[in-house]
Amino acid sequence: MKKSFLLHIKGLVQGVGFRPFVYRLAHENELTGWVNNQNDSVNIQITGYENSIVKFIEELKNKKPEVSRIESLELTEILSKHPENNFTIIESKDHNHQITQISPDLAVCPQCLEDMKKQSHRLDYPFINCTHCGPRFSIIQDLPYDRIHTTMQDFEMCHTCKSEYTDPLDRRFHAEPIACSDCGPHYTLDNRENCIEDIEDILKNVSELIDNGEIVNIKGIGGYFIACDATSDLAVQQLRSSKKKYGKPFAVMFRDIMALKEYVFINENEEKLITSIKRPIVLLKQRKPLAKGINDGLSQIGVMLPYMPIHYQLFEQLTTPAIVMTSGNISEEPIVIDDVLAKNQLSGISSNILSHNRSIHNRVDDSVAFVMKGKTRMIRRSRGYVPEPVSLWSDCEGIFAAGAELVNCFAIGKGREAILSQHIGDLKNYETFDFYRESFERFQRLFRFKPSLAVCDLHPDYLSTNFAESLELPLVKVQHHHAHIASCMAEHQLDKTVIGVSMDGTGYGTDGKIWGGEFFITDLVKFERWFHFENIPISGGDQAAYQPWRSAVSYLHHYQLLNPAWEWIGKLNQPGLDMVMKSIERKINCPESSGAGRLFDTVAALTGICHTATYHAEAPMKLEALIREGVPGKYSFEISRKTISFRNTLSEILEDLKRNTSTPIISARFHNMVIEVICEICTRIRNESGLNKVVLSGGTFQNRYLLERALKALENQKFEVYTHEKVPSNDGGIALGQLAIAAKKREMRCV
Ligand code: ZN
Ligand code: ZN
Ligand code: FE
Repeated sequence: MKKSFLLHIKGLVQGVGFRPFVYRLAHENELTGWVNNQNDSVNIQITGYENSIVKFIEELKNKKPEVSRIESLELTEILSKHPENNFTIIESKDHNHQITQISPDLAVCPQCLEDMKKQSHRLDYPFINCTHCGPRFSIIQDLPYDRIHTTMQDFEMCHTCKSEYTDPLDRRFHAEPIACSDCGPHYTLDNRENCIEDIEDILKNVSELIDNGEIVNIKGIGGYFIACDATSDLAVQQLRSSKKKYGKPFAVMFRDIMALKEYVFINENEEKLITSIKRPIVLLKQRKPLAKGINDGLSQIGVMLPYMPIHYQLFEQLTTPAIVMTSGNISEEPIVIDDVLAKNQLSGISSNILSHNRSIHNRVDDSVAFVMKGKTRMIRRSRGYVPEPVSLWSDCEGIFAAGAELVNCFAIGKGREAILSQHIGDLKNYETFDFYRESFERFQRLFRFKPSLAVCDLHPDYLSTNFAESLELPLVKVQHHHAHIASCMAEHQLDKTVIGVSMDGTGYGTDGKIWGGEFFITDLVKFERWFHFENIPISGGDQAAYQPWRSAVSYLHHYQLLNPAWEWIGKLNQPGLDMVMKSIERKINCPESSGAGRLFDTVAALTGICHTATYHAEAPMKLEALIREGVPGKYSFEISRKTISFRNTLSEILEDLKRNTSTPIISARFHNMVIEVICEICTRIRNESGLNKVVLSGGTFQNRYLLERALKALENQKFEVYTHEKVPSNDGGIALGQLAIAAKKREMRCV
């Protein structure tokens, strides 16, 4: 006998080809009924024999489109007196204010790349896409996800596209950005003399320009990028000097995985990540040199594979196997998305501008990640990931989390889900703060979000704090490192009391001092500071983050090690040295800091790796890059009451320097010491409290050597250790922690 069921599916099931998939599956299993989209879900009614229905549901779970994600599936048996005699897709319904998930932007799929070679209306057409691939978040303006609510509304579908769009058996059925050479967007290449519109000419010209060492600005999915030959020293140097004061390493895109493997070491998990439909930049160990100036002083390089059709097309013609692909911006401003602005700003870098006429609504940078212990570790969470939510265990509806300041990202709560914004950047930059405000407005509209509670950092001067205050809502303020730990707890749905280890450069403490080498006993409501790195008056405060030599002088002075370090100081040759010395002696502008970042800076400066930094965390990154693997020794440290002192560490380093011990060995011994500190302190806390769960968070844990070995050492001591897998351990993850804390406090009626 035939039976009828109603299925209610929630998750990432819209804009990813879910309905056509259901349609085909129902037909294959000879079921009748219908499927439709609602704002918050997909509904299916099916009638058929029991074994067919079982098979249908199994295949629904196992064969679903790659990017789709089923979060819940409710199955109810119904009495269907008049079962349909066919299976159909019926109209979308927009009947409530709940929303379903919006898909992130996806890399072009293999079938579309094939279609580019054979579909007559899409031959070499660089805006090809289907229900499984193409732009999503970057073009969406409103819900439901229909073409009229995307920036594709400017293009009227031709007859051919329309018939594909309406054919349930077509790969482009309801592919909202569907387009072809006749009706869709197109590229234009602008250079000094002319403006080229023919795609063949464009590809030929752009690849020639790049192969000849020129720089080209290229409009991508979520913003403009700047490209040049990654094997040309000259081109890279020129790019570096035109991107004012920009010292950060450049990301490199390779022709294909074969070319990539020639230049970097890659394991199975890393290959899986780099070829995934999200196509992030992946940090890998370099095997063979590329141009000088791409990642000077670092052993890792950020690499990626083509993800837009035009990338593939360019590599078909390019001689070079690798191109630099860096965000199109001047210094720290947000990545440029506006075509007029691109002409004004980026023409200073290069007058070659490859643009297209599909506008970008939501700006998204490339995401950056690395793999450790088989898991993805995010450094920057943007294209391919945003706006995928992180599921919490409790209700966070209406909560706005303002985030931190330097690598800002905010978050909103919808039901039990936290939706994090794309990477915003350093809010101190005026344009970036504008981007922040604008994105918040867009998220409100897109996710039907009405804030009723705000949460921000304790730091009184963060622009995100000021913004949260300006909303005039009930406000929760969260200590920076408490938020770091909570963000990792939120990822793991860990609502317990834990040992929290948070290390980073800086965060405002409850005593008004700068914190950043912290050992807490904490849950989602409160924390106690059990141990911390010793407070050191650091000359210049925030300024010191870019002048590691200041931290070194401050540390040496505090530990009365200036005498044994005399030789080092003599070679320092910093014009401000006298003033810094005086400021330390007179305690002027020397805020006390327990930041781990300043300690790493000190060691980087003492070993001469980095006296002044040209980008955030340059010194610790370079110190890590130099580590010699397999060095067992470590420096000593002291624990007195609640503080960890590094006097012995530094004095031993100075002795090693006198003995001409190599920097790779010094760096290894230093890192091993920090790992030992983490283990020793966690053990002491466990002995006193009985707690066994350790949570590691904070920007310092982007250091792979430190994270990997601290994790291993703690696990050897039978600790249960939690590390980040979904959001960055840096300040880009802070908003999630703030949100989790505010949600818990509201649940406990503490706000
Ligand atoms: Zn496709
Ligand atoms: Zn068309
Ligand atoms: Fe931080």
